[in-house]
Amino acid sequence: MNAVDALNLTIARTDATADLYGVTPAELDAGAKTLAGLDWQERNAFAASSVLGTIVAIAGEHQAECRRPDCRTCDAVRSGLATTLAGLRTLKRETIDRGRAR
Ligand SMILES: [Zn+2]
Repeated sequence: MNAVDALNLTIARTDATADLYGVTPAELDAGAKTLAGLDWQERNAFAASSVLGTIVAIAGEHQAECRRPDCRTCDAVRSGLATTLAGLRTLKRETIDRGRAR
């Protein structure tokens, strides 16, 4: 799977879940306006930070109540944390390197 395929899959899953949670077009427009003023690296940092904040909030709530030995939610949270944390550490390293290059 290439990056565009991965994004398309994630967008489709997110669209469906956003519908379930009642996300409105106005909320999507507000998010797009926030991102429009940022450069590519800032958009990535903003998106990664937002996703990690959401995952951490879900993880905290779920961990407090989950007693299942095999839990798909715990597996998904663990996977999301690993991927997002790796991405954030990469963004941080690149941001520091970018600052040194200026
Ligand atoms: Zn669980």
